[in-house]
Amino acid sequence: MSTTTPATLTFDGRFAREFEELAVPWQAEEAPAPELLVLNDALASELGMDPSYFRTPEGTLMLIGNRIPEGATPVAQAYAGHQFGGYSPLLGDGRALLLGEVTDVHGRLLDVHLKGSGRTPFARAGDGLAVVGPMLREYIVSEAMHAMGIPTTRSLAVVATGRPVRRETMLPGAVLTRVAGSHLRVGSFQFARVNGDTELLRRLADHAISRHHPDAGQAEQPYLALFDAVIAAQASLVAQWMLVGFVHGVMNTDNMTISGETIDYGPCAFMDAFNPEAVYSSIDAGGRYAYANQPRIAEWNLTRLAEALLPLLHEDQEQAVALAVESLGGFRKLYSAAWSAGMTSKLGLDADDDAVSPLVNDLLGLLEEGQVDYTSFFRSLGSAARGTPDAVRAMFADPGAFDAWAKRWLALEPDAGMMDRVNPAYIPRNHLVEEALAAATAGDLDPFRRLVDVLANPYTERPGLERYAGPAPADFGSYRTFCGT
Ligand code: AMP
Ligand code: MG
Repeated sequence: MSTTTPATLTFDGRFAREFEELAVPWQAEEAPAPELLVLNDALASELGMDPSYFRTPEGTLMLIGNRIPEGATPVAQAYAGHQFGGYSPLLGDGRALLLGEVTDVHGRLLDVHLKGSGRTPFARAGDGLAVVGPMLREYIVSEAMHAMGIPTTRSLAVVATGRPVRRETMLPGAVLTRVAGSHLRVGSFQFARVNGDTELLRRLADHAISRHHPDAGQAEQPYLALFDAVIAAQASLVAQWMLVGFVHGVMNTDNMTISGETIDYGPCAFMDAFNPEAVYSSIDAGGRYAYANQPRIAEWNLTRLAEALLPLLHEDQEQAVALAVESLGGFRKLYSAAWSAGMTSKLGLDADDDAVSPLVNDLLGLLEEGQVDYTSFFRSLGSAARGTPDAVRAMFADPGAFDAWAKRWLALEPDAGMMDRVNPAYIPRNHLVEEALAAATAGDLDPFRRLVDVLANPYTERPGLERYAGPAPADFGSYRTFCGT
């Protein structure tokens, strides 16, 4: 393995250097026949990189950690976490590595991270690998989230390794190169709390403040302010998920970031028909992470973060708990405010109107009862605001009930332009994602590329793209997603 520095991308190994307790130096497994499947040119440029470098054999090796750029110290990060409510004191990157940090053209410090790069000391029974389909899936969905303006980790590239991976059948292996504000999670703090003294916890909190919530550093109680900032970031994030019908699917505490970015696109999915109980993950039998549970789960996870942070909040444990409880009380208010403001915009209405809240509640009841496609409904409602209600009426088996609702709504004079700016026409619909991944796995990347291209502009409806805007065909059936794929 040789060392090289691409002219414009300089790595730092800040996390590796500053957090030896949380970082195990490790190397990516050598890929027998690396092939670049997709490169995010725009993101590469944002990193200050000439995208064409990554298309060279040397650049492609860099994307999968088989050529270590100068300054990079690949590490597997340790973290703990509550998975489906059960606590594991040691999880960590079982099949991922942090290559290091880079500064983008806006001066932001970002993590460059690999997923599917081979077994690490945290791999437990896992093979450390990932396969082409699910890595392209993360690429599609994370980039779609970004295009919708929802905070998320980004996808820089997917490289096929040339190594077959055993799942239910043999499948082609791949590595995803992920870029994120950081990979600090609630689980990182849980790990520091059980494994370190307060000094480590404090150092981690200082790091989180400097990277993500610098205003907290100026507060009278910086660590309490950090906690408040994470609460605010997550309240806003989960509200945005709810507004676009996103079901994360595996909201374990190791999959909740301190930055407020969406992370870990394993079993996630967007719902078609509006259904508060929507669950897609094959392992979520109890529906713990169902659509409507997400705000509650976020609050539960933040309570776990509070427990980890207690020694920093006050030297007296009782007073620390009192402070944490008070801050946690803010979550519901912040979440409700973000959700209500978002729903108000989706309906094209004025935030101060008292009539909005009952209108939203009644609407959601109608959508659920009629099993109406959530995304198509809101997008078509924009046409109704412009005086063409036919398409949206046709979504209801009982258009009369919709008409009665629409009369009340139209009386508030909705702004159709505002609606088009917040109601996506194109989301990563499950049937489209599956179609693209099946073709890609068989060697045809065209449907994947087209889908990524459509989703890059979710709010601008374009002629000829009708098949990307509609619900799944009736024969698509019930959709199941999987973890650790
Ligand atoms: P997730 O539910 O995807 O966030 O993963 C939970 C934990 O399982 C993390 O510690 C992952 O690193 C680990 N993991 C998932 N899949 C694999 C795999 N194929 N090999 C090794 N570790 C894995
Ligand atoms: Mg994870």
